[in-house]
Amino acid sequence: MSGVSIEGAAEVLRPPADALPYLRSDRADELVLEGGAVALDGDRVAGFEPDATATLRVDASGCTVLPGFVDCHTHLPFAGWRAEEYELKVTGVPYEEIARRGGGIASSAAAFGRASDADVLAQARRLAGEMLASGTTTLECKTGYGLSVFAERRAARLARELDAAQATTVTGLFAHAVPDGYTADAWMDEVEALATSVDVDALDIYVETVAFANEHLVRLAAMAQATGRPLRAHVEQFAANRSVPVAVGLGARSVDHLACLHPEDLDPLARSETAAVLLPGAEFLGAEHVAPARDLADAGAICVLGSDLNPGTSPVAAMPTVIGLAVRRYGWSVREALLACTLNAAFVLGLSAEAGSLEPGKRADVILLDSPAAHLPYRFARNPVCAVFVAGRPAWVRPDSAWRLDGAV
Ligand SMILES: [Zn+2]
Repeated sequence: MSGVSIEGAAEVLRPPADALPYLRSDRADELVLEGGAVALDGDRVAGFEPDATATLRVDASGCTVLPGFVDCHTHLPFAGWRAEEYELKVTGVPYEEIARRGGGIASSAAAFGRASDADVLAQARRLAGEMLASGTTTLECKTGYGLSVFAERRAARLARELDAAQATTVTGLFAHAVPDGYTADAWMDEVEALATSVDVDALDIYVETVAFANEHLVRLAAMAQATGRPLRAHVEQFAANRSVPVAVGLGARSVDHLACLHPEDLDPLARSETAAVLLPGAEFLGAEHVAPARDLADAGAICVLGSDLNPGTSPVAAMPTVIGLAVRRYGWSVREALLACTLNAAFVLGLSAEAGSLEPGKRADVILLDSPAAHLPYRFARNPVCAVFVAGRPAWVRPDSAWRLDGAV
């Protein structure tokens, strides 16, 4: 047998049962974190006994072994950054003034339009590489920085061409902002044409007073149903627009942000199969409200964490940082945070049969931390990831940990 045998780990994270599509967050304490081994056969997880015949034996002493992180909410690909705008924001310059100076989403759309395909792909690959070194082995891309029919098609094509080391999915966030010259209703006609003709895995919308309304969410749901794609929605980021009951009623796969979730909408969301995707990086860097994540977890919601990696509100790529923010600001346990960026995040992307947990037969996306799992949030913003396997192959190894893989035959 050719394979990888990861041996002597201090902790290995496993689900309480195999083949769960997700685990409600009030059951996170059932996740098992015990010492042991993980054997990989080809691109699959084979089992939990050391394999003396493996071609690569990995010394995981003192390490935590986790399924690779799944980042189900990023805005890759985009062009450039908006660091000047961040400084203006934190020093108190009003949003209107920032927009007048050419900031905001329009500046990202303009940069995307100016950048060549090669430049957009190079930046996205660099970021995917950073994410890999931070343990992310599956990531979502979104369109949305096109703001025209032509550029949204281009964004979807470039997302497909990304060719990262990780597994990737592409979400059509065609309804991100209302482009100049359109009303929201008129742009939704273009969204409909895009949704039926562009190759994407899911449809998404930004519902907010400055963008689209609940009636547009209803319209997108019809497009999602007609084209057989899951519906996702950015909701309740800056105001309680009561989009959550609408999205839950429409069978949305996820509602994302929720910093301003209306209290009456919490229990119905928690009882539904619509995942609650929380984005603590955006909340922290934007000084937004904090999502009621402790209550969502206690109520049994399918809680999920994402980076929201984007140039405007969350230039954060590292899941260990996101986990650190979630544990501190949400009052979550380590298991709650780990569940939210592994199995439950895979559910959002429709990949929980393939990724998100260490189970025989699943894709062998495995990461090693150089410390106990509890250190992940505690040593805040430190990256403890020292080796990353994607589909059974070493995809990244920190130089000071290369010795762990010296067992190659
Ligand atoms: Zn987003």
